[in-house]
Amino acid sequence: MALIPLLPLFHNFNREYFNGTLTSASKPLVAVRWSDGKLRKTAGFYRRGPKLNGCYKSEIVLSKPLLEFLPREAIESTLCHEMIHAWIDLVLRLQEGHGPNFHRRMIAINSAQDQFQITVRHKFPVPISSPKWWAICPACGLRSSYQRMVKGAACRKCCNLHHGGKWHASCLLQYESAKESI
Ligand SMILES: [Zn+2]
Ligand SMILES: [Zn+2]
Repeated sequence: MALIPLLPLFHNFNREYFNGTLTSASKPLVAVRWSDGKLRKTAGFYRRGPKLNGCYKSEIVLSKPLLEFLPREAIESTLCHEMIHAWIDLVLRLQEGHGPNFHRRMIAINSAQDQFQITVRHKFPVPISSPKWWAICPACGLRSSYQRMVKGAACRKCCNLHHGGKWHASCLLQYESAKESI
């Protein structure tokens, strides 16, 4: 399974948007990793803990099941969102969730580029039991249920089969209202 490596992105964003403050002697101050297949409640999170993988005392985790078949911008905006939390905690040494520092940095990053937009809440789909939308793959016809339409989501099965596990535009899901189709 080919997931986008997160560390090069982290170093990039650290240079561009955090003045290099999230590394010390080019080593990240925070561990950055993909989740296992089970993290389905949120697209990503930042946390601090006494004993996280070896020398790190905090980590950023991105949800593999929610993000792996979304376009790159979704991964970038989620990573950057969590990096703002890490920056507030480790560099500013403040406890503030989505407060004024978060908003200021988010707005600065959003207006500095047009590749991705950070939002306060991660707006990615979480599969649920009574769907509002069916997402249909044009390639294999697979239908999956979603609560929200998500622009740019691709068919997991076809990306795996035909595109080496990477997001591909030819597997873009098409949406149909679940209410009309029942
Ligand atoms: Zn947040
Ligand atoms: Zn498909």
